[in-house]
Amino acid sequence: MTFLRFVTTLREVERASSRLEMVRLLADALRDLPPDEAPLAVNLLKGQVAPEFEGVEFGVAEKEAAKALALALGRDEVEVVRAVREKGDIGAYAREALPQRTGGLSLRHVYDELRAIAEDAGPGSQARKRERLARLVAAASPEEAALILRIVTGRLRLGVGDATVLEALALAFLGDRSKKPLLERAYNLTSDLAYVARLALEGEDALRAVKLEVGKPVRMMLAERLAGPEQIMEKLGSHYAEHKYDGERVQIHYDGERFWVYSRRLENITHQYPDLLEALREVQHEPFILEAEAVVTDPLTGEMRPFQNVLNRKVKHLTPELLEKYPIKGFVFELLYDRGEALIERPYRERRERLERWFRPHERLELSVKRYVETTEELVRFFDESIEAGCEGLVCKKPDGEYEAGKRGFKWVKYKRGIAGKLSDTLDLVIVGAWLGRGRRAGAYGSLLAAAYNSDEDRFETLTKIGSGFSDADLNEVLPRRLGPYRRQERHPRVWSLQEPDVWFDPVLVVEVEAQEITLSPGHTCAFGVVQQGRGLALRFPRFVRYRDDKSPEEATTTREVVEMYHNQWSQSR
Ligand code: AMP
Repeated sequence: MTFLRFVTTLREVERASSRLEMVRLLADALRDLPPDEAPLAVNLLKGQVAPEFEGVEFGVAEKEAAKALALALGRDEVEVVRAVREKGDIGAYAREALPQRTGGLSLRHVYDELRAIAEDAGPGSQARKRERLARLVAAASPEEAALILRIVTGRLRLGVGDATVLEALALAFLGDRSKKPLLERAYNLTSDLAYVARLALEGEDALRAVKLEVGKPVRMMLAERLAGPEQIMEKLGSHYAEHKYDGERVQIHYDGERFWVYSRRLENITHQYPDLLEALREVQHEPFILEAEAVVTDPLTGEMRPFQNVLNRKVKHLTPELLEKYPIKGFVFELLYDRGEALIERPYRERRERLERWFRPHERLELSVKRYVETTEELVRFFDESIEAGCEGLVCKKPDGEYEAGKRGFKWVKYKRGIAGKLSDTLDLVIVGAWLGRGRRAGAYGSLLAAAYNSDEDRFETLTKIGSGFSDADLNEVLPRRLGPYRRQERHPRVWSLQEPDVWFDPVLVVEVEAQEITLSPGHTCAFGVVQQGRGLALRFPRFVRYRDDKSPEEATTTREVVEMYHNQWSQSR
C-alpha cells in the first residue's frame, strides 16, 4: 500500500461523524493492505512502531523534528524552529511549508525508517535521527510529511481506541464485527495489537490458540464497586476478602533469567523496582507471572505509606538514596503463571492455594492478607481491621471466579470507606470539552465537560460540567498546557454529547472527581434512557480531586458503574 492511501484514510477517520463510520473506514483500509503490512498499519495507527509495553520511543522532541524539517526544506534552522513553535503544530506547519509534490512512499518504507529512527541510540544518535527524518520528509508529499512528523513527535491524535481497532480487524479479516470478542481475548492476553492483527489474518483458530506469554503483559483484571457490605454479600455470597493496599499495581514476569515489571497501563516500569526484583531473585528460581501491590513503607517503622510516595520512585535514575528513603514492599495477590502453566482460567480459590504454596517469605515480600467471610458482620469486622492496618479497605473476590484479563466485573468488588455527605467513591472521568471562563477566569478555561466510558458502545458519554476544585494554576497554566494539544474544532466521533462547549478535546485526559450525588438529567448522555426514558445521569456538586495520568481513557469510570452508583447512593454505606 502507498503511504498516501494510509494518510488519506486517517484524515477520513478524523472527520468521521460516528464511531461506526470510523470502524468501516479502518476495516476497508486494512483489507486493502497486503497481509504483511496490516500489523505495521495497526502500530502506526497508534503512533508507534512496537507495542507500548516494549517502550520503544522515537526520542525526537518537537524542536529536533523542526530542525529535520528545516534540513528537508533547505531553510534556516532557527527560523523554522520559531515558525513551528508559533504555529503550535508541526504537522500543520509542514503541510503549508513543503512544496506540493506527489510523494508516493510505500507504507513499509515509512515504517522501516520510523523504526530505524526509534532504534538508533547512543553517541551521535540525535544527529543521525535528524538526518534520517529529514530524508524521509524530503521525499514525502506535504500530507505524508505532516503525518510522519506528528508520529515521531508523539502528536498523532486520532482518538482511535483499542476497541475500535479490534472491531475494525474483526470486520476486515473475520468478516463480521460481532467476532470482536475473539480478538479481544487474544489482545487481553498479549496486549499487542499488531500481533493480534497477524493472528486475525491467519484465522479464528490462530486467535483461539493464543496463550499468555512470559514477557508480554496480560491486561489487568479490575474490580467493580457496590454500595456497601450488604450489597457485596448479596452479590458474592460467602467469599474471600483481601486487604486493599494503597500502592502501585505491578505485574511481574520472570522467565528464569530476566524480569519485566508492568504498570496498570502496561508500561514497562522494571527500572523502578530493583529492590523488589532483588528480593524475588533471592527466593524464586522458576518462571512466573505474579501481581502485587507495591507499597512504600516507612524506613524507620516499617509502616505503610500512602500511594503518593510511590511517585517518588518515578524518576529516570533511581539513586541508592531514593531507594533507602522510599523502601518498597510487595503485597502479592495473584499468581497467573507458574513454571510453564497458565493459571488464569482456574478459579480464584485454586489460584490462591497455588500462590500460597508457591510463596517464599522475604522482608520485602508479603502475601495479601485474606479471610473467608460468610456474613455481613464478618465482612464489616474484616473491613475495620484492614483500615486499622493502614489499608484502603478490601477487595472481595468470588471463590470460583477466573482471572478475567482486561475486564472489570463483579468477580472482584472493592469495598472502600465512604465520606459522609458525599458519594462513597470518586469517579475517574475523561475531559471532552471546555467552556471559556468569564470574570476572574477570563482567558482561561472556566469549566470542563467530563464523560464516563461506555465500554459496550466504546464511546464517552457526558455527565458533568466541573468548575470547582481547580487552583488558579490549574486553570491558567496546567489545564491549557495539558489539554492544548488535544483541542479540536468539532466533537470527537467517540464522544456523545447534548452539550455544546466552546472547545472540544480528543478524549485523552482522565481526572478524578468527587460529587455529592448522582441525579437524572435531560442534558447529559451518560446511560441515557437506562434509568429513565429521555434522561441521562449527571453529577451534583462535582469537584476536581486530581489528575489520573495512570489511567487511560478506557479505564475511566464506566457508564455501567455510574448506574450502579446511582442506585446505590441512598443505601447505608460505611
Ligand atoms: P481501584 O483502583 O479503586 O479500581 O481498585 C482496584 C485496585 O486495588 C487494583 O487495581 C489494585 O491496584 C489494588 N489492590 C490493592 N490490594 C489488592 C488486592 N488484595 N487484590 C486486588 N487488587 C488490589
